[in-house]
Amino acid sequence: MTQHHLSDKTNMFDVVIIGGAMMGSSAAWFLSHHPEFDGRILVIERDLTYSFCSTSHTHSCVRQQYANALNIKIAQFAVEMVRNFKHHMKDLAAPDIALDSFGYMYLAQSDGFAKQLQRQQQLQASLGAGTQIMTTEEIARHYPFYNLEDIILGSHNRRDEGYFDGAGIFDWWRRAASKRGVVYRQDQVVALDHARGRVTAVHLASGDQVVPGVVINAAGPRASEVAAMAGFDLPVEPRRRFSFVFSAQTPMTQSLPLTIDPTGVHFLRHGAYFLAGCVPDHDVAVAPDNFEMDLHIWQDKVWPALAHRVPAFEAIKVEREWVGHYAYNVLDANAVIGPHPDMPNYYFMNGFSGHGLQQSPAMGRGIAEHIVSGTYQTLDLSAFGFDRILKQTPLLETAII
Ligand SMILES: Cc1cc2nc3c(=O)[nH]c(=O)nc-3n(C[C@H](O)[C@H](O)[C@H](O)COP(=O)(O)OP(=O)(O)OC[C@H]3O[C@@H](n4cnc5c(N)ncnc54)[C@H](O)[C@@H]3O)c2cc1C
Repeated sequence: MTQHHLSDKTNMFDVVIIGGAMMGSSAAWFLSHHPEFDGRILVIERDLTYSFCSTSHTHSCVRQQYANALNIKIAQFAVEMVRNFKHHMKDLAAPDIALDSFGYMYLAQSDGFAKQLQRQQQLQASLGAGTQIMTTEEIARHYPFYNLEDIILGSHNRRDEGYFDGAGIFDWWRRAASKRGVVYRQDQVVALDHARGRVTAVHLASGDQVVPGVVINAAGPRASEVAAMAGFDLPVEPRRRFSFVFSAQTPMTQSLPLTIDPTGVHFLRHGAYFLAGCVPDHDVAVAPDNFEMDLHIWQDKVWPALAHRVPAFEAIKVEREWVGHYAYNVLDANAVIGPHPDMPNYYFMNGFSGHGLQQSPAMGRGIAEHIVSGTYQTLDLSAFGFDRILKQTPLLETAII
């Protein structure tokens, strides 16, 4: 990747993106390739190895099983881009992006959740998703390895839902944006000057200063720190999520959907291994550099849930585990995107919780459109605006993993 130093050039940039991982690089790619944008873009990234960001700890899956029409359309755009990546990148050298549609399987144990899944299925199907409600007999026929004694029904979609190669997209966006002249610089934004409703300067840990036209906060779990630099209270906090790769003594020959168990534990196949994750019972904000593992979660929560749901998982072995952070929006676990209503050159691109990888294409496209034209042109993302944070009106999305 080409790196320039601000001292080499003028310190004025039309767009300064704070954070260069999945969201920052999506914004950089879409803006630098927008036919009506010819400005200078600077991405400031505190760690160009990306070792600690959410993007490097993701499971990289996409689903259409949401309860909100906008989230469904956002995921559908991700799949459309994955399937036609070369076309979207306008470059035959762009890679083919893998998509493994094993589908998600939500299992309902209570009447209330079963009804919720049925309502969601109707909405998803009305938007073209392939979600189907399955009786326990149907599930058992297709996936005989489950223990379904406490299950009422399942919701499953094997079309355009499963794993996708998000890392491949991230890599391409960075490279293609750099080729178009986007400057990636390793440094940390430590302060913002603002006056009369505008950000006027970006201060870096190195001591340099940048004068921005527009600033985009794409700082992931550190988003609220960067919001506070402009005087904004953004309810996005780092929450630990625990992932466990395990092997099973008994081989599984059938395909395994990404299963969301009623306990909240979810699991999927990961090559020759399996991958499980869950929301911890004590789910609190942590420092953004806190990656402490809690092995009790495996012992007390994940393994018992796996062994109950799939008896063949009685004999399994943890091969590897990691801790990553959700940038968790406490108000409604959904995205916050667009300009601040009182500071139009400050854009949010935050709060994606557990679905940011699949939302990055729609978010990058949307923010580029908004910066260029002042409105969203393709998919209206204004429901995700900061207004709802100010008014404390959550955007309903019950299907959060
Ligand atoms: C365990 C786990 C599983 C997940 N599974 C999925 C999934 O299956 N599907 C899905 O769609 N999503 C999933 N997600 C969510 C998804 O990975 C994230 O939403 C997405 O990667 C967020 O990207 P981002 O660019 O906003 O944040 P990040 O990847 O965290 O990037 C933020 C960047 O900002 C930089 N930064 C922060 N502060 C500053 C500063 N002051 N100055 C300069 N740089 C700064 C950081 O160094 C970092 O590189 C998962 C997340 C986790 C943790």
